[in-house]
This record gives sequence, C-alpha cells and structure tokens, in this order.
Amino acid sequence: MRGLGGKGVLVTGGTSGIGKATARRFLEEGARVFVCGLEGVAATLTELAGLGEIAGTACDVSREEDVARLVTEATGFLGAVDVLINNAGTAWREPFLEITPAHWDALMRVNLRGMFLVAQAVSRAMVAAGTRGAIVNMSSTNGLGGEAEYAHYNASKGGVLLLTKTMAVELGAHGIRVNAVCPGYIRTPLNASITPDDAFVAAYERDHIPLGRAGHADEVAAAYAFLASDDASFIHGAELVVDGGQLAIM
Ligand code: NAP
Repeated sequence: MRGLGGKGVLVTGGTSGIGKATARRFLEEGARVFVCGLEGVAATLTELAGLGEIAGTACDVSREEDVARLVTEATGFLGAVDVLINNAGTAWREPFLEITPAHWDALMRVNLRGMFLVAQAVSRAMVAAGTRGAIVNMSSTNGLGGEAEYAHYNASKGGVLLLTKTMAVELGAHGIRVNAVCPGYIRTPLNASITPDDAFVAAYERDHIPLGRAGHADEVAAAYAFLASDDASFIHGAELVVDGGQLAIM
C-alpha cells in the first residue's frame, strides 16, 4: 500500500484476533504501531517486537480516563497518531427477549461508547496537531443486517456506521478521512468463544458464505491497511464489506 511507511498507527484491540493481525500488517508496511487491549498487551509486544517499532498499554476503551492516557502514551511513542484503527469490541449471543438493561449497557459501553471516546480523543489530537490523518472504525456485517440473538451487538455496529459517516462529514474539512470496515464471519478468539462447535461453523460456511469459508484476520487487516493508505485517498465516509459474499445472498 502507498503512504504507510513511517506512519504512526494506533490499533485499539490490537492484542488479539483482527487487531493483532492488523498491528502485524502495519509493521510489515513499515509503519510504527501502538496497541491497546485489556489482557494481551505484554504477550502481543513480545510476539511482534521483531517486526518493527511497536509499543502498547492496557486500556479499557469504555473509560474516559483510560482513553485520555492512551492517546497521551500513543502520541508520546509515535510522535503523532497519523492513523487510528478503532477496532476494540466485544460480542455475545443473547435472545432479544432476554437481554437485560445491564447487558445492553455493558455491550454498548465497549462497542459504541468506547468507539466514540477513542475516535473523539484521537480526532481532537489530530486537529490540534494539524495531522491530515485517517481513521477506520470497526463495524460489521451485523451493522447492515439483523442477525438473530445479537440485537445489542447489531445495534452497536449499526451505530458505528452512522458515527463514521457523521465524523466524515465534520472532519473532512480538517483533511481527516474516516471510513469503516464491515467484516463477516472471521476466525478469531472472539468468534471461537461464541460459536457452538465446529459442525456449526462448517454448516454456516456452507449455507451463508458464497466463498464457502470463514475469513481470516489478516484479510480484514488488509482492508484496514487499504483504507488507511494513500491508495484510498478519495474514499471517505464509506464502509468496506469483507464477508466472502455473505451479504450478496437474498
Ligand atoms: P478478539 O480476538 O476477541 O479481539 C478483541 C480485541 O478487543 C482484543 O484485543 C481485546 O483485548 C480488545 N478489547 C475488548 N474489550 C476491550 C475494552 N473494553 N477496551 C479495550 N480493548 C478491548 O475479537 P475480534 O474478532 O478480533 O474482534 C475485533 C473487532 O472486530 C471487534 O470490534 C468485533 O466486534 C469486530 N468484528 C469481528 C468479526 C468476527 O467475525 N470476528 C466480524 C465483524 C466485526 P484483550 O484480548 O487484550 O483483552
């Protein structure tokens, strides 16, 4: 990809699954990377250290004080945050009729409030520094259609899409591009934790995904890298679906 070498890239949720694959991809592109997560920071830094300049910190993106510290530490390491990969998120399965207000709030705190807090803090830093940066928010195919037993997750990811478009409208004048990715079913630790068993996955791949397989984390990392790169210099306020054709099915 053009224009990623030497860039400072912050990847939230960069300690597992799609986020870790993304940290790896940006290092391979010659970028400098700062990651955050809840549990996996030390292990990720050990795993990826040989690939380039990387640092990180533990941070709960749903907490304002954590996010303020995150942006300060990331800016200190990177010099400036040129690219934000706003990726951290969680999911669990729960029938709509059984979701409690507490469960609704717990999911929204991470997936929508956390996404907003990080996006706003980094955008403010970019505007203050005059950085003509790129932000890519993590939505999902679940932000474009209503999968059963994921009402709170679907609503959070739909919210991310309109957060993305509104940010694009307001931040374009500052030279900050904002887009979203919408992955379908990707093999990650998160999905392994909420998928019943291998037979379920095999049936899902056969019946719901025209390419006949789940996606890999590095296939989403490639979409993130493209949208952050100069190759996407006129793509703004858009969502890029990475789903093996799942949404093409009637
Ligand atoms: P994953 O392997 O579980 O990774 C989730 C990452 O988010 C981890 O780095 C985790 O940190 C971090 N995280 C979770 N809660 C956090 C919090 N409150 N504050 C900071 N970091 C937090 O899951 P994944 O599948 O790669 O998911 C990454 C993103 O992709 C999520 O937003 C998810 O909704 C989205 N997505 C996934 C799929 C899929 O099929 N897998 C499809 C569409 C969208 P630790 O591991 O360090 O605790």
